[in-house]
Amino acid sequence: MIADLHAHSNRSDGTLSPAAVVARARERGVTMLALTDHDSTDGLAEAAQAARGQGIELVNGVELSCRWQGTDVHVVGLAIDPVRLAGGLAAQQAARAARAQRIAERLQRAGAGEHLAAACALAGSDHPGRPHFARALVAAGVVRDEEHAFNRYLRQGQAAYVPTDWVGVSGAVAWIRAAGGVAVIAHPARYRLTRTRLRRLVAEFAAAGGQALEVKLPGQQPSQVEAMVRLADEFGLAGSVASDFHGPGSPWADLGAAGSLPPGARPVWELWCC
Ligand code: AMP
Ligand code: FE
Ligand code: FE
Ligand code: ZN
Repeated sequence: MIADLHAHSNRSDGTLSPAAVVARARERGVTMLALTDHDSTDGLAEAAQAARGQGIELVNGVELSCRWQGTDVHVVGLAIDPVRLAGGLAAQQAARAARAQRIAERLQRAGAGEHLAAACALAGSDHPGRPHFARALVAAGVVRDEEHAFNRYLRQGQAAYVPTDWVGVSGAVAWIRAAGGVAVIAHPARYRLTRTRLRRLVAEFAAAGGQALEVKLPGQQPSQVEAMVRLADEFGLAGSVASDFHGPGSPWADLGAAGSLPPGARPVWELWCC
């Protein structure tokens, strides 16, 4: 079995439709796929439809934006019931919409121009994410690429970064569990936390009822994977495999590119499938 339990469609900041994500995963040999759009379950019905009878198991997922001690962290929910998560997601999307207005104001104040309408058009909604602003800035010729847009304007510490009142980590875990799902800390190495703070995050997450950690992502050093497997084991967490696919433009993070679960990690899917 090849699992990939973290992927995005154009219902958030990915570039492919949910059906196209499923088709590509299948072509690439993935047999268990979770669609995990940022703060949205809008793509799940289309993905489930596309997966039917295709030999690929579709897991209902979501990736919740969370605020933890002044840092933005992500908690993935797997095998969730989207209906029971709807109330929480509405609050997250309202926070996104308000944040988008403020990002646009800050971009304007920083002399980068007006980009709210373009970002909304790219997102197809009134709650665009930072990648949509990044694409709008590229399209307007303000920056050369999305990476530059983040480094110059959008990432924490830059002029158009807006701290946002996302749900907390414990709150996110509670929402996911109330929706029948399994909570997973997404890409733990990406937050640039010290080891002590990462352990604190994992401890708080586990105490709140969180059950898994993404231990394997594309391009990670074996030593880093081993460290994450040990961390998961220490807190009694299962392990998950995640490409964090956003589109075909990033071949290093393509569907299935994380490979298989490393030895020593307890498979997260055992928490819902057996
Ligand atoms: P948001 O949830 O709207 O704050 O956007 C977060 C998303 O932006 C992440 O999931 C990534 O897809 C993307 N992202 C974050 N940092 C960068 C970066 N430095 N360059 C390109 N994309 C990024
Ligand atoms: Fe993203
Ligand atoms: Fe993420
Ligand atoms: Zn993601």
